Amino acid sequence: MNHTQDTLWTRTARLPAESDTALPQAVDVAIIGGGFTGMTAARELLIAGRSVAVLEAGKIGAGASGMNAGFVVPNFAKADPNAVRAKLGTERGNALLRLVGDGANAVFRTIEEDGISCDARQTGWLNPAYGAASAEMLKARAALWRELGRPVSFLDADQTHQQTGMDIYAGALLDEEGGTIHPLDYLRGLGQSVRRRGGTVHEGQCVEKVIRDGAGWRLTMRSGATLTAAKVLLCTNAFTIGAASRMGRSAVPLRVYQIATTPADPATVKRIAPDGRPVGDTRQNLFTYRLDRDNRLISGGMAAIPFGAFDRLGRAVADRLSKELDLPQAVTPEVVWTGVAAMTPDFLPRLHQLGEGWFGGIGCNGRGIAMTAQLGRVLAHAALGESLDHLPIPVRPLRPLPFHQFTPIVASAALIQARLKDKLAK
Ligand SMILES: Cc1cc2nc3c(=O)[nH]c(=O)nc-3n(C[C@H](O)[C@H](O)[C@H](O)COP(=O)(O)OP(=O)(O)OC[C@H]3O[C@@H](n4cnc5c(N)ncnc54)[C@H](O)[C@@H]3O)c2cc1C
Repeated sequence: MNHTQDTLWTRTARLPAESDTALPQAVDVAIIGGGFTGMTAARELLIAGRSVAVLEAGKIGAGASGMNAGFVVPNFAKADPNAVRAKLGTERGNALLRLVGDGANAVFRTIEEDGISCDARQTGWLNPAYGAASAEMLKARAALWRELGRPVSFLDADQTHQQTGMDIYAGALLDEEGGTIHPLDYLRGLGQSVRRRGGTVHEGQCVEKVIRDGAGWRLTMRSGATLTAAKVLLCTNAFTIGAASRMGRSAVPLRVYQIATTPADPATVKRIAPDGRPVGDTRQNLFTYRLDRDNRLISGGMAAIPFGAFDRLGRAVADRLSKELDLPQAVTPEVVWTGVAAMTPDFLPRLHQLGEGWFGGIGCNGRGIAMTAQLGRVLAHAALGESLDHLPIPVRPLRPLPFHQFTPIVASAALIQARLKDKLAK
Protein backbone atom coordinates (compact mmCIF):
# COMPACT_ATOMS: atom_id res chain seq x y z
CA MET A 1 0.00 0.00 0.00
CA ASN A 2 2.48 2.55 -1.20
CA HIS A 3 0.51 5.72 -1.70
CA THR A 4 1.22 6.81 -5.24
CA GLN A 5 -2.18 8.31 -6.07
CA ASP A 6 -2.00 11.48 -8.09
CA THR A 7 -4.09 14.05 -6.21
CA LEU A 8 -4.46 17.82 -6.27
CA TRP A 9 -2.56 17.78 -3.00
CA THR A 10 0.45 15.74 -4.21
CA ARG A 11 0.62 18.11 -7.21
CA THR A 12 0.51 21.33 -5.21
CA ALA A 13 2.18 20.44 -1.87
CA ARG A 14 4.86 22.85 -0.76
CA LEU A 15 6.15 20.90 2.24
CA PRO A 16 8.36 17.85 1.69
CA ALA A 17 7.46 14.42 3.10
CA GLU A 18 9.88 13.59 5.92
CA SER A 19 10.46 10.15 7.40
CA ASP A 20 13.00 8.44 9.70
CA THR A 21 14.70 5.22 8.75
CA ALA A 22 16.13 3.69 11.95
CA LEU A 23 13.40 2.44 14.30
CA PRO A 24 14.03 3.10 17.99
CA GLN A 25 14.15 -0.05 20.14
CA ALA A 26 11.74 1.26 22.74
CA VAL A 27 9.51 4.29 23.24
CA ASP A 28 6.98 5.47 25.80
CA VAL A 29 4.18 5.48 23.23
CA ALA A 30 4.00 3.75 19.84
CA ILE A 31 1.46 5.25 17.47
CA ILE A 32 0.07 3.08 14.70
CA GLY A 33 -1.08 5.19 11.73
CA GLY A 34 0.44 8.43 10.45
CA GLY A 35 -2.75 10.39 9.55
CA PHE A 36 -4.06 13.49 11.35
CA THR A 37 -5.13 11.45 14.40
CA GLY A 38 -1.76 9.75 14.87
CA MET A 39 0.29 12.90 14.22
CA THR A 40 -1.86 15.04 16.54
CA ALA A 41 -1.61 12.42 19.31
CA ALA A 42 2.17 12.24 18.80
CA ARG A 43 2.55 16.03 18.98
CA GLU A 44 0.51 16.20 22.19
CA LEU A 45 2.52 13.39 23.84
CA LEU A 46 5.84 15.00 22.91
CA ILE A 47 4.65 18.29 24.44
CA ALA A 48 3.90 16.26 27.60
CA GLY A 49 7.49 14.96 27.57
CA ARG A 50 6.95 11.39 26.30
CA SER A 51 9.07 9.62 23.68
CA VAL A 52 7.05 8.68 20.62
CA ALA A 53 7.37 6.76 17.33
CA VAL A 54 4.72 7.04 14.58
CA LEU A 55 4.49 3.86 12.49
CA GLU A 56 2.87 4.32 9.09
CA ALA A 57 2.21 1.38 6.77
CA GLY A 58 2.41 3.38 3.54
CA LYS A 59 3.55 6.90 2.77
CA ILE A 60 2.49 9.80 4.98
CA GLY A 61 -0.88 10.76 3.46
CA ALA A 62 -1.75 7.23 2.28
CA GLY A 63 -5.01 7.34 4.24
CA ALA A 64 -7.96 9.73 4.29
CA SER A 65 -5.75 12.53 5.68
CA GLY A 66 -3.96 12.75 2.34
CA MET A 67 -7.08 12.32 0.21
CA ASN A 68 -9.72 14.58 1.72
CA ALA A 69 -11.10 17.86 0.41
CA GLY A 70 -9.70 20.11 3.13
CA PHE A 71 -13.01 21.45 4.54
CA VAL A 72 -12.50 22.24 8.23
CA VAL A 73 -15.93 21.85 9.84
CA PRO A 74 -16.42 21.85 13.63
CA ASN A 75 -19.71 19.97 13.97
CA PHE A 76 -21.40 16.67 13.21
CA ALA A 77 -22.53 15.72 9.71
CA LYS A 78 -25.59 13.81 10.86
CA ALA A 79 -26.49 15.04 14.34
CA ASP A 80 -27.50 18.26 15.99
CA PRO A 81 -26.61 19.10 19.61
CA ASN A 82 -29.91 17.74 20.98
CA ALA A 83 -29.42 14.40 19.23
CA VAL A 84 -25.93 14.10 20.76
CA ARG A 85 -27.29 14.84 24.25
CA ALA A 86 -30.14 12.36 23.72
CA LYS A 87 -27.61 9.66 22.84
CA LEU A 88 -24.99 10.35 25.51
CA GLY A 89 -26.85 12.14 28.30
CA THR A 90 -26.60 15.87 29.04
CA GLU A 91 -23.20 15.95 30.76
CA ARG A 92 -21.32 13.62 28.42
CA GLY A 93 -23.15 15.02 25.41
CA ASN A 94 -22.18 18.58 26.31
CA ALA A 95 -18.55 17.52 26.87
CA LEU A 96 -18.43 16.01 23.36
CA LEU A 97 -20.20 19.04 21.86
CA ARG A 98 -17.70 21.45 23.42
CA LEU A 99 -14.82 19.31 22.16
CA VAL A 100 -16.17 19.03 18.61
CA GLY A 101 -17.22 22.69 18.56
CA ASP A 102 -13.63 23.73 19.32
CA GLY A 103 -12.23 21.36 16.65
CA ALA A 104 -11.66 23.94 13.91
CA ASN A 105 -10.02 26.35 16.35
CA ALA A 106 -7.76 23.49 17.46
CA VAL A 107 -6.65 22.92 13.85
CA PHE A 108 -5.98 26.60 13.11
CA ARG A 109 -4.27 27.07 16.53
CA THR A 110 -1.86 24.21 15.86
CA ILE A 111 -1.13 25.56 12.38
CA GLU A 112 -0.34 28.96 13.85
CA GLU A 113 1.65 27.68 16.84
CA ASP A 114 3.83 25.43 14.70
CA GLY A 115 4.01 27.78 11.71
CA ILE A 116 2.62 25.16 9.31
CA SER A 117 2.33 26.57 5.81
CA CYS A 118 -0.82 24.88 4.43
CA ASP A 119 -3.07 27.53 2.81
CA ALA A 120 -5.08 27.74 6.06
CA ARG A 121 -8.09 30.07 5.82
CA GLN A 122 -10.59 30.38 8.67
CA THR A 123 -13.25 32.06 6.56
CA GLY A 124 -16.32 30.28 7.98
CA TRP A 125 -18.25 27.32 6.53
CA LEU A 126 -21.61 27.52 4.79
CA ASN A 127 -24.26 24.82 5.02
CA PRO A 128 -27.09 25.84 2.65
CA ALA A 129 -30.56 24.40 3.19
CA TYR A 130 -32.29 22.58 0.35
CA GLY A 131 -36.02 23.02 0.96
CA ALA A 132 -38.03 24.77 3.66
CA ALA A 133 -37.90 21.85 6.11
CA SER A 134 -34.09 21.81 5.99
CA ALA A 135 -34.03 25.58 6.55
CA GLU A 136 -36.15 25.21 9.72
CA MET A 137 -33.91 22.39 10.91
CA LEU A 138 -30.74 24.47 10.35
CA LYS A 139 -32.24 27.54 12.01
CA ALA A 140 -32.90 25.47 15.14
CA ARG A 141 -29.47 23.82 14.92
CA ALA A 142 -27.72 27.20 14.65
CA ALA A 143 -29.58 28.38 17.78
CA LEU A 144 -28.48 25.27 19.70
CA TRP A 145 -24.82 25.85 18.78
CA ARG A 146 -25.16 29.51 19.78
CA GLU A 147 -26.42 28.42 23.21
CA LEU A 148 -23.09 26.62 23.54
CA GLY A 149 -21.33 29.93 22.89
CA ARG A 150 -20.36 29.23 19.28
CA PRO A 151 -20.45 31.80 16.44
CA VAL A 152 -23.09 30.04 14.34
CA SER A 153 -25.85 31.96 12.59
CA PHE A 154 -28.61 31.43 10.04
CA LEU A 155 -28.57 33.35 6.75
CA ASP A 156 -31.79 33.94 4.83
CA ALA A 157 -32.27 32.96 1.17
CA ASP A 158 -31.03 36.33 -0.15
CA GLN A 159 -27.89 36.27 1.98
CA THR A 160 -27.27 32.69 0.90
CA HIS A 161 -27.63 33.73 -2.73
CA GLN A 162 -25.06 36.49 -2.17
CA GLN A 163 -22.65 33.98 -0.68
CA THR A 164 -23.05 31.21 -3.28
CA GLY A 165 -24.56 32.74 -6.39
CA MET A 166 -27.16 29.97 -6.15
CA ASP A 167 -30.88 30.67 -5.87
CA ILE A 168 -32.09 27.17 -5.01
CA TYR A 169 -31.51 27.48 -1.27
CA ALA A 170 -33.95 28.52 1.44
CA GLY A 171 -31.18 29.77 3.71
CA ALA A 172 -27.90 28.56 5.21
CA LEU A 173 -26.14 27.84 8.46
CA LEU A 174 -22.91 29.82 8.76
CA ASP A 175 -20.27 28.49 11.15
CA GLU A 176 -17.72 31.26 11.41
CA GLU A 177 -14.99 29.01 12.79
CA GLY A 178 -14.89 26.66 9.78
CA GLY A 179 -12.54 27.09 6.85
CA THR A 180 -10.16 25.32 4.50
CA ILE A 181 -6.61 23.94 4.44
CA HIS A 182 -4.27 22.11 2.09
CA PRO A 183 -4.59 18.77 3.88
CA LEU A 184 -1.36 17.14 2.72
CA ASP A 185 0.72 20.16 3.71
CA TYR A 186 -1.07 20.24 7.08
CA LEU A 187 -0.26 16.55 7.60
CA ARG A 188 3.35 16.90 6.48
CA GLY A 189 3.63 19.99 8.70
CA LEU A 190 2.34 17.98 11.67
CA GLY A 191 4.95 15.31 10.84
CA GLN A 192 7.67 17.96 10.84
CA SER A 193 6.43 19.23 14.24
CA VAL A 194 6.62 15.71 15.62
CA ARG A 195 10.20 15.25 14.39
CA ARG A 196 11.26 18.73 15.56
CA ARG A 197 10.00 17.87 19.05
CA GLY A 198 12.12 14.69 19.11
CA GLY A 199 9.61 12.07 17.91
CA THR A 200 10.23 9.79 14.95
CA VAL A 201 7.98 9.10 11.94
CA HIS A 202 8.44 5.88 9.97
CA GLU A 203 6.90 5.27 6.55
CA GLY A 204 6.57 1.72 5.23
CA GLN A 205 6.16 0.16 8.70
CA CYS A 206 2.95 -1.86 8.72
CA VAL A 207 2.26 -3.09 12.26
CA GLU A 208 1.09 -6.70 12.08
CA LYS A 209 0.87 -7.66 15.74
CA VAL A 210 0.77 -6.05 19.15
CA ILE A 211 1.41 -8.49 21.99
CA ARG A 212 1.87 -8.08 25.72
CA ASP A 213 5.52 -7.89 26.77
CA GLY A 214 6.10 -7.49 30.51
CA ALA A 215 4.38 -4.30 31.63
CA GLY A 216 4.23 -2.95 28.05
CA TRP A 217 3.77 -4.07 24.46
CA ARG A 218 5.85 -5.53 21.64
CA LEU A 219 4.92 -4.43 18.14
CA THR A 220 5.94 -6.59 15.18
CA MET A 221 6.06 -5.02 11.73
CA ARG A 222 5.40 -6.77 8.43
CA SER A 223 9.13 -6.31 7.73
CA GLY A 224 9.92 -8.41 10.83
CA ALA A 225 11.28 -5.43 12.77
CA THR A 226 10.08 -5.02 16.36
CA LEU A 227 9.68 -2.19 18.83
CA THR A 228 8.59 -2.14 22.46
CA ALA A 229 6.38 0.52 23.99
CA ALA A 230 4.81 1.17 27.37
CA LYS A 231 1.62 2.37 25.64
CA VAL A 232 0.12 1.97 22.17
CA LEU A 233 -2.36 4.12 20.23
CA LEU A 234 -4.22 2.71 17.23
CA CYS A 235 -4.99 5.57 14.81
CA THR A 236 -5.82 3.59 11.67
CA ASN A 237 -9.31 4.86 10.76
CA ALA A 238 -11.05 2.65 8.13
CA PHE A 239 -8.03 0.43 7.43
CA THR A 240 -8.25 -3.30 8.14
CA ILE A 241 -4.64 -4.37 7.58
CA GLY A 242 -2.54 -6.10 10.26
CA ALA A 243 -3.13 -4.73 13.76
CA ALA A 244 -5.83 -2.37 12.38
CA SER A 245 -8.14 -5.21 11.41
CA ARG A 246 -10.61 -5.36 14.31
CA MET A 247 -11.09 -1.62 14.75
CA GLY A 248 -11.35 -1.05 10.98
CA ARG A 249 -14.13 -3.62 10.76
CA SER A 250 -16.16 -1.74 13.39
CA ALA A 251 -16.87 1.14 10.97
CA VAL A 252 -18.52 1.42 7.56
CA PRO A 253 -15.95 2.31 4.89
CA LEU A 254 -17.28 4.92 2.44
CA ARG A 255 -15.42 5.45 -0.81
CA VAL A 256 -15.49 9.11 -1.80
CA TYR A 257 -14.23 10.61 -5.09
CA GLN A 258 -12.80 14.12 -5.29
CA ILE A 259 -12.07 16.30 -8.28
CA ALA A 260 -10.31 19.59 -8.89
CA THR A 261 -11.04 21.64 -12.00
CA THR A 262 -8.89 24.11 -13.84
CA PRO A 263 -8.91 27.54 -12.10
CA ALA A 264 -12.17 29.50 -12.16
CA ASP A 265 -12.19 33.03 -13.62
CA PRO A 266 -12.18 36.01 -11.17
CA ALA A 267 -15.82 36.97 -11.88
CA THR A 268 -17.01 33.44 -11.08
CA VAL A 269 -14.93 33.36 -7.89
CA LYS A 270 -16.50 36.64 -6.78
CA ARG A 271 -19.99 35.34 -7.52
CA ILE A 272 -19.80 31.87 -5.92
CA ALA A 273 -17.41 32.53 -3.03
CA PRO A 274 -17.13 36.28 -2.32
CA ASP A 275 -15.72 35.57 1.15
CA GLY A 276 -13.84 32.40 0.21
CA ARG A 277 -16.21 30.20 2.21
CA PRO A 278 -16.39 26.44 1.58
CA VAL A 279 -19.90 25.12 0.97
CA GLY A 280 -21.63 21.83 1.75
CA ASP A 281 -25.42 21.68 1.40
CA THR A 282 -28.09 19.56 3.10
CA ARG A 283 -29.04 17.31 0.20
CA GLN A 284 -28.85 13.57 0.80
CA ASN A 285 -26.55 13.39 -2.23
CA LEU A 286 -24.78 16.42 -0.92
CA PHE A 287 -23.30 19.14 -3.09
CA THR A 288 -19.99 20.64 -1.96
CA TYR A 289 -17.46 23.07 -3.34
CA ARG A 290 -14.47 25.09 -2.28
CA LEU A 291 -11.57 26.82 -3.99
CA ASP A 292 -7.88 26.10 -3.63
CA ARG A 293 -5.23 28.83 -3.54
CA ASP A 294 -5.23 28.98 -7.38
CA ASN A 295 -9.05 29.12 -7.52
CA ARG A 296 -9.50 25.56 -8.75
CA LEU A 297 -12.92 24.28 -7.78
CA ILE A 298 -12.84 21.21 -5.58
CA SER A 299 -15.89 18.99 -5.24
CA GLY A 300 -16.73 15.35 -4.65
CA GLY A 301 -19.23 12.56 -4.86
CA MET A 302 -19.88 8.88 -4.32
CA ALA A 303 -20.57 6.14 -6.83
CA ALA A 304 -23.59 3.87 -6.51
CA ILE A 305 -21.88 1.41 -8.86
CA PRO A 306 -18.15 1.02 -8.24
CA PHE A 307 -17.17 -0.33 -11.69
CA GLY A 308 -15.57 2.33 -13.89
CA ALA A 309 -16.40 4.88 -11.21
CA PHE A 310 -13.15 6.82 -11.40
CA ASP A 311 -13.66 8.37 -14.83
CA ARG A 312 -17.46 8.37 -14.64
CA LEU A 313 -17.56 10.16 -11.28
CA GLY A 314 -14.91 12.67 -12.37
CA ARG A 315 -17.09 13.72 -15.31
CA ALA A 316 -20.34 13.60 -13.31
CA VAL A 317 -18.97 15.80 -10.50
CA ALA A 318 -17.58 18.32 -13.03
CA ASP A 319 -20.95 18.41 -14.86
CA ARG A 320 -22.75 18.94 -11.58
CA LEU A 321 -20.43 21.85 -10.70
CA SER A 322 -21.03 23.47 -14.09
CA LYS A 323 -24.81 23.10 -13.78
CA GLU A 324 -25.34 23.96 -10.12
CA LEU A 325 -22.98 26.94 -10.15
CA ASP A 326 -24.13 28.06 -13.60
CA LEU A 327 -20.52 28.33 -14.73
CA PRO A 328 -19.87 30.34 -17.91
CA GLN A 329 -18.05 27.37 -19.44
CA ALA A 330 -18.44 23.67 -18.67
CA VAL A 331 -15.49 22.57 -16.53
CA THR A 332 -13.48 19.38 -16.82
CA PRO A 333 -11.57 17.68 -14.03
CA GLU A 334 -7.88 18.52 -13.92
CA VAL A 335 -7.35 15.67 -11.47
CA VAL A 336 -9.59 13.00 -9.90
CA TRP A 337 -8.71 11.03 -6.80
CA THR A 338 -10.40 8.81 -4.25
CA GLY A 339 -10.19 7.82 -0.61
CA VAL A 340 -12.08 5.94 2.07
CA ALA A 341 -13.81 7.63 5.01
CA ALA A 342 -14.92 5.72 8.14
CA MET A 343 -18.50 6.05 9.38
CA THR A 344 -19.54 4.67 12.77
CA PRO A 345 -23.08 3.27 12.99
CA ASP A 346 -24.21 6.12 15.32
CA PHE A 347 -22.17 8.78 13.44
CA LEU A 348 -20.27 9.68 16.63
CA PRO A 349 -16.54 9.26 17.35
CA ARG A 350 -15.51 6.59 19.83
CA LEU A 351 -12.56 5.35 21.84
CA HIS A 352 -11.71 1.71 22.42
CA GLN A 353 -9.55 0.16 25.10
CA LEU A 354 -7.77 -2.79 23.52
CA GLY A 355 -5.60 -3.71 26.51
CA GLU A 356 -3.79 -2.13 29.47
CA GLY A 357 -2.42 1.14 28.06
CA TRP A 358 -3.52 0.28 24.51
CA PHE A 359 -6.22 2.54 23.03
CA GLY A 360 -7.79 3.14 19.66
CA GLY A 361 -9.98 5.92 18.28
CA ILE A 362 -12.20 6.08 15.21
CA GLY A 363 -15.24 7.80 13.76
CA CYS A 364 -14.61 11.15 12.21
CA ASN A 365 -17.60 10.62 9.92
CA GLY A 366 -16.58 12.98 7.12
CA ARG A 367 -15.74 15.80 9.54
CA GLY A 368 -12.32 14.34 10.18
CA ILE A 369 -10.06 17.36 10.00
CA ALA A 370 -11.56 19.22 12.94
CA MET A 371 -12.46 15.99 14.72
CA THR A 372 -9.02 14.33 14.46
CA ALA A 373 -7.42 17.41 16.02
CA GLN A 374 -9.51 16.57 19.08
CA LEU A 375 -9.52 12.75 18.79
CA GLY A 376 -5.70 12.72 18.63
CA ARG A 377 -5.52 14.88 21.76
CA VAL A 378 -8.00 12.74 23.66
CA LEU A 379 -6.09 9.56 22.72
CA ALA A 380 -2.89 11.21 23.97
CA HIS A 381 -4.62 11.96 27.28
CA ALA A 382 -5.70 8.31 27.53
CA ALA A 383 -2.05 7.27 27.02
CA LEU A 384 -0.99 9.79 29.67
CA GLY A 385 -3.15 7.89 32.13
CA GLU A 386 -6.19 10.15 32.40
CA SER A 387 -9.28 8.34 33.65
CA LEU A 388 -11.35 7.12 30.71
CA ASP A 389 -14.49 8.20 32.56
CA HIS A 390 -13.36 11.82 32.31
CA LEU A 391 -12.54 11.83 28.60
CA PRO A 392 -15.01 13.71 26.38
CA ILE A 393 -15.21 10.97 23.72
CA PRO A 394 -17.23 7.91 24.77
CA VAL A 395 -15.37 4.64 25.35
CA ARG A 396 -17.16 1.73 23.68
CA PRO A 397 -16.56 -2.00 23.44
CA LEU A 398 -14.92 -2.85 20.12
CA ARG A 399 -17.43 -4.76 18.01
CA PRO A 400 -16.54 -5.50 14.38
CA LEU A 401 -19.66 -5.12 12.21
CA PRO A 402 -21.16 -8.40 11.07
CA PHE A 403 -20.79 -8.78 7.27
CA HIS A 404 -18.37 -5.82 7.20
CA GLN A 405 -17.21 -6.80 3.70
CA PHE A 406 -20.74 -6.21 2.38
CA THR A 407 -21.20 -2.75 3.91
CA PRO A 408 -20.17 -0.99 0.63
CA ILE A 409 -23.21 -2.63 -1.04
CA VAL A 410 -25.47 -1.23 1.70
CA ALA A 411 -23.83 2.19 1.22
CA SER A 412 -24.52 2.01 -2.56
CA ALA A 413 -28.17 1.18 -1.91
CA ALA A 414 -28.41 4.08 0.56
CA LEU A 415 -26.94 6.43 -2.04
CA ILE A 416 -29.51 5.42 -4.67
CA GLN A 417 -32.28 5.97 -2.10
CA ALA A 418 -30.77 9.35 -1.15
CA ARG A 419 -30.83 10.54 -4.77
CA LEU A 420 -34.49 9.58 -4.99
CA LYS A 421 -35.25 11.52 -1.80
CA ASP A 422 -33.56 14.63 -3.25
CA LYS A 423 -35.68 14.34 -6.38
CA LEU A 424 -38.83 14.08 -4.24
CA ALA A 425 -37.75 17.06 -2.10
CA LYS A 426 -37.36 19.08 -5.31
C1 LIG B 1 -12.22 11.58 -0.17
C2 LIG B 1 -12.39 12.08 1.24
C3 LIG B 1 -12.76 13.41 1.46
C4 LIG B 1 -12.89 13.88 2.77
N1 LIG B 1 -13.11 15.21 2.96
C5 LIG B 1 -13.10 15.71 4.21
C6 LIG B 1 -13.19 17.11 4.39
O1 LIG B 1 -13.23 17.90 3.45
N2 LIG B 1 -13.21 17.57 5.68
C7 LIG B 1 -13.12 16.73 6.75
O2 LIG B 1 -13.16 17.21 7.88
N3 LIG B 1 -12.98 15.40 6.59
C8 LIG B 1 -12.95 14.87 5.35
N4 LIG B 1 -12.76 13.53 5.18
C9 LIG B 1 -12.50 12.69 6.37
C10 LIG B 1 -11.07 12.86 6.89
O3 LIG B 1 -10.16 12.90 5.84
C11 LIG B 1 -10.72 11.70 7.83
O4 LIG B 1 -11.71 11.57 8.82
C12 LIG B 1 -9.38 11.89 8.52
O5 LIG B 1 -8.37 12.16 7.60
C13 LIG B 1 -9.03 10.63 9.32
O6 LIG B 1 -7.72 10.77 9.80
P1 LIG B 1 -7.03 9.54 10.54
O7 LIG B 1 -5.68 9.96 10.92
O8 LIG B 1 -7.93 9.05 11.62
O9 LIG B 1 -7.00 8.38 9.45
P2 LIG B 1 -6.13 8.20 8.10
O10 LIG B 1 -5.73 9.48 7.53
O11 LIG B 1 -6.90 7.26 7.25
O12 LIG B 1 -4.82 7.53 8.62
C14 LIG B 1 -4.74 6.19 9.02
C15 LIG B 1 -3.36 5.72 8.67
O13 LIG B 1 -3.10 4.45 9.28
C16 LIG B 1 -2.24 3.74 8.42
N5 LIG B 1 -2.34 2.30 8.78
C17 LIG B 1 -3.40 1.50 8.64
N6 LIG B 1 -3.12 0.27 9.13
C18 LIG B 1 -1.86 0.32 9.60
C19 LIG B 1 -1.01 -0.64 10.23
N7 LIG B 1 -1.41 -1.89 10.49
N8 LIG B 1 0.27 -0.25 10.56
C20 LIG B 1 0.68 1.02 10.33
N9 LIG B 1 -0.09 1.96 9.73
C21 LIG B 1 -1.35 1.62 9.37
C22 LIG B 1 -2.76 4.05 7.03
O14 LIG B 1 -1.80 3.81 6.02
C23 LIG B 1 -3.15 5.53 7.16
O15 LIG B 1 -2.15 6.40 6.72
C24 LIG B 1 -12.67 13.01 3.88
C25 LIG B 1 -12.35 11.67 3.65
C26 LIG B 1 -12.20 11.22 2.36
C27 LIG B 1 -11.80 9.80 2.15
